[in-house]
Amino acid sequence: MTRLLLRDVRPLGGAPADILVENGRIAAIGTGLDSRGASEEAGHGLLALPAFVEGHTHLDKSLWGMPWYVNEVGPRLIDRIDNERAQRRRLGLDPARQAERLAREFLAQGTTRIRSHADVDTEIGTTHNDALVALREAMRGTMDIQVVAFPQSGLLIRPGTMELMETALRNGADIVGGLDPSGMDRDPKGHLDAVFGLCTKHGKPLDVHLHEPGELGAFALDLMIERTKALGMQGQVVVSHAFCLGEVARAPALYEALAKAGIAIATTAPPSRPVPSVKAARAAQAKIFGGNDGIRDTWTPYNMPDMLQRAMLIGLKNDFRRDDEIDMALGMVTDWAAEACGFETCRLAVGERADIVLVQAQSVAEAVVAQPSRTLVISHGAVVARNQG
Ligand SMILES: [Zn+2]
Repeated sequence: MTRLLLRDVRPLGGAPADILVENGRIAAIGTGLDSRGASEEAGHGLLALPAFVEGHTHLDKSLWGMPWYVNEVGPRLIDRIDNERAQRRRLGLDPARQAERLAREFLAQGTTRIRSHADVDTEIGTTHNDALVALREAMRGTMDIQVVAFPQSGLLIRPGTMELMETALRNGADIVGGLDPSGMDRDPKGHLDAVFGLCTKHGKPLDVHLHEPGELGAFALDLMIERTKALGMQGQVVVSHAFCLGEVARAPALYEALAKAGIAIATTAPPSRPVPSVKAARAAQAKIFGGNDGIRDTWTPYNMPDMLQRAMLIGLKNDFRRDDEIDMALGMVTDWAAEACGFETCRLAVGERADIVLVQAQSVAEAVVAQPSRTLVISHGAVVARNQG
């Protein structure tokens, strides 16, 4: 049996306590715990947080660690999609190398579970998907990775993509991806029937990127709600971005309908567009959680593999000021994300998996706002990163 004792830490900013970890799980939390032969880590009163979840990113196309990319892309979604296909060839982007680089940086910053989309299209085939599936297997036991087969360049408008999606799923993708049923494929019924069809055929959940604005996006949500209920897929569908929820007057009813259908909302809370409201979603009992989206790629020079930073940005966009509101921002990148994505939860409680982050901060709110360096990161009960900074 492997044992680790964290001595003198403050779980979520509470009273000082020791945390005993046995075989990867929290065996006891209390004061003056007997180490029972465990190796000890002195916590020095540091704040203990549950490790983080990245609920929406694109590990396969980050330029992390590569020379600075000069972004000269046009303003439209289609400009970014077309530019990316051209640039990844020019830059010689290696999805396996880039995904591992970024995943290891996420781990060093306290993230132990990542849902990543992987581009599937008629130029790269399933190579990005297959690289992420291989990384998922290589990091198993340290980092939990979910792979979404994602038709970034369109599904129905690009003949051959459906067959590639089938191959990606047979090759080990965990989740079916979709994209802007009207805006990209210009066929909302056809697109959604196709992706829901892949889900039922392969027994997989669904995660749809929905950038469509206003009532067009809301109509896509209506169609997704109908299909989710009809197919009994409650709890297995995520809609990513759903900017329309920040725009349409009928958003309150949509949150209620999404909650009833068990559809979760992933939000990156970007400054550039209206976004779903964390409070409004939670008030309607709809699931909502956070993610970065792309990190240092041809789409955006911004974002970091640091979920405390993402929590801060979500808090900023949602105008969270009170400490109890900022606690919600942490929920967006911990438990709520784990539950919505189907990852194991890692709460700071006996019996939970021991994925723990220690930082120098007084409280959760201070950690979210100040994003201190991660003094110690524990994944699956083992120390995986230290930072004395
Ligand atoms: Zn995305």
